[in-house]
Amino acid sequence: VSTYRVAVLGARGVGKSAIVRQFLYNEFSEVCVPTTARRLYLPAVVMNGHVHDLQILDFPPISAFPVNTFQEWADACCRGLRSVHAYILVYDICCFDSFEYVKTIRQQILETRVIGTSETPIIIVGNKRDLQRGRVIPRWNVSHLVRKTWKCGYVECSAKYNWHILLLFSELLKSVGCA
Ligand code: GDP
Repeated sequence: VSTYRVAVLGARGVGKSAIVRQFLYNEFSEVCVPTTARRLYLPAVVMNGHVHDLQILDFPPISAFPVNTFQEWADACCRGLRSVHAYILVYDICCFDSFEYVKTIRQQILETRVIGTSETPIIIVGNKRDLQRGRVIPRWNVSHLVRKTWKCGYVECSAKYNWHILLLFSELLKSVGCA
């Protein structure tokens, strides 16, 4: 594979777009513009001296659609999308529900495999690490669950301060077998 397609999923407001924009353009905005349609970014990234083509798909959350199930959401959202090579599932370390949402999406991915397979790597991302005082999701518990039980990659980052954003994308490239 020369091009790696990545789906970025998570609840509204967790910082999906902020992470992608910080990674690609080194910019951050306090303004929250809800993602209502699938957005596609096509960067070429250099990692360890090699160039990789990425297709980053920033998805709107299920709540943006008048649908009830993940399958319906996927049908509405993933039209024309044959497959992805990796998933990034983002939650906000200050929002308990956003982690529950990640659990649900992961389960749905494993059950329905709409745009991936059971082998498709998943990376779990705890964003807004700069808001340490508002943290409600303990790092250790999640890291243990994600790494040991789910066997997924795990990164905590801050899109605002560009902490661990590069680490996240290098984990991603590792998970799809390059870098
Ligand atoms: P999305 O709906 O998941 O795409 O979320 P956005 O990227 O639109 O971000 C939602 C809100 O959270 C915006 O107001 C961002 O400025 C803010 N935000 C995103 N990432 C961070 C972060 O790392 N730290 C802080 N403090 N705010 C963030």
